[in-house]
Amino acid sequence: MKDKVVCYFSAAQSEQPIIYRLVKNYDLIVNILKADINPQKEGYLVTELEGERAKYEEGISFLKSLGVIVEPLSETVMWDEDTCIQCGACASFCPTEALSIDRDSMEVSFDNSKCVICEMCLECCPTRAIRLHFEVQGAAR
Ligand code: SF4
Ligand code: SF4
Repeated sequence: MKDKVVCYFSAAQSEQPIIYRLVKNYDLIVNILKADINPQKEGYLVTELEGERAKYEEGISFLKSLGVIVEPLSETVMWDEDTCIQCGACASFCPTEALSIDRDSMEVSFDNSKCVICEMCLECCPTRAIRLHFEVQGAAR
């Protein structure tokens, strides 16, 4: 399984080789998306964890046993209409027509309810008008 989580560390925890132990003891792939960890200070880590389900759950339990606060992240796609230059590139990649072109007006629009977060559109946008947005879903301590 693969999931994104945010981990909050206390000052004492931030000194420990936690990532190393997740990789070595639980065979998890740790893809760090964002981090702010400083010695002897509180910090956080936004990461994607990937591995066998049982190992994944053991790894999360390990984090919690250390007192690390672990919260799941949900992701949504955001389209910034003001940054969009209406080039239409994204609409040709989008498999669900969440991003689409009106054939009469030739205007691009985004329907979030159709988006399956396949991320196909992210790389093709020349102005970065399409971005992933992460939200903390709630405490899973
Ligand atoms: S993430 Fe996928 S489904 Fe969503 S808008 Fe982009 S291409 Fe379409
Ligand atoms: S690729 Fe980017 S700039 Fe082009 S239409 Fe899509 S959102 Fe707009």
